[in-house]
Amino acid sequence: MSTQTWTKKDLVGIEHLNREELEIIFRTTSAFKGTLTRNVKKVPALRGKTVVNLFLEPSTRTRVAFEMAAKRLSADVVTITASASSLVKGETLRDTAQNIRALNADLLVLRHSAPGSAAYLARILDIPVINGGDGAHEHPTQALLDCFTMREHLGDLTGKKVTILGDILFSRVARSNIWLLGKLGAKVTVAGPSTLVPDTFTHMGVTVSHNLPEALADADAVMLLRIQHERQTATHFPSLGEYTGMFGLNQARAALLKPEAIIMHPGPINRGVEIDSNLADSSRSVILEQVTNGIATRMAVLYLCSGGGPDLISKQESK
Ligand code: ASP
Repeated sequence: MSTQTWTKKDLVGIEHLNREELEIIFRTTSAFKGTLTRNVKKVPALRGKTVVNLFLEPSTRTRVAFEMAAKRLSADVVTITASASSLVKGETLRDTAQNIRALNADLLVLRHSAPGSAAYLARILDIPVINGGDGAHEHPTQALLDCFTMREHLGDLTGKKVTILGDILFSRVARSNIWLLGKLGAKVTVAGPSTLVPDTFTHMGVTVSHNLPEALADADAVMLLRIQHERQTATHFPSLGEYTGMFGLNQARAALLKPEAIIMHPGPINRGVEIDSNLADSSRSVILEQVTNGIATRMAVLYLCSGGGPDLISKQESK
């Protein structure tokens, strides 16, 4: 077994992580998942530390999961959202972040509309910075929880066919998953209309498909993505109805997947648009499992970036 330990201060993306680092995160996630089924779910790993969630774009799952993860690790947590911050008074992101640091924050989780914003703060601040989504660039903890969930259902992902269907162009979830699934040896197909799934994605080592039956045939997992209206400045398809008609996942199309294939979605789901409502609630859907796995994943990332080692978890007394 590898003896490599986690040495990174920050988690700003999946792109630059190696396989060993990914396995450390997955092992740590598993260990923390175990603690979440105990009667007393708290561990003292981050006692005395303060995690600040600076969320400057809307979020439900990621923000709450980071808050819960920090609390399960016994940290103090402060969440700041865009309308409640002095950014609306003209303060720069750099100044906001440096002031949060001056208030003795020990870790910062950032969600921001600008690609590269988390990497920028990671360079400026001497505390760990975790990317909670930077524009259409990366959403590393989402991809980690997605692949953790896939591994629970499908085992080793080497050679598994994963189809990501929807608005790939504007999706940070797609980019982080393409990096991560590639590093884990999965065969990734990205599918959707050519306006939202340009051929340039082949440079990331994936198959690009505009033919839905082909993209879904024999897939082990399909991941649906919402249309990212907030990032689109031009019209990419005639109407939502036509998008659903051509690329929505319905019962007939789901029948093309492998019988044991799982249906995934990072949320928020738009029922009746990218996914048929019954399919979202069906036994093949692991959408809510993904959400639950988001807590242990964020615990692992907060813990590792704050300097926690792999052996510590087993020694943690629950309290
Ligand atoms: N929640 C995910 C994100 O923040 C997916 C989405 O919004 O469609 O990127």
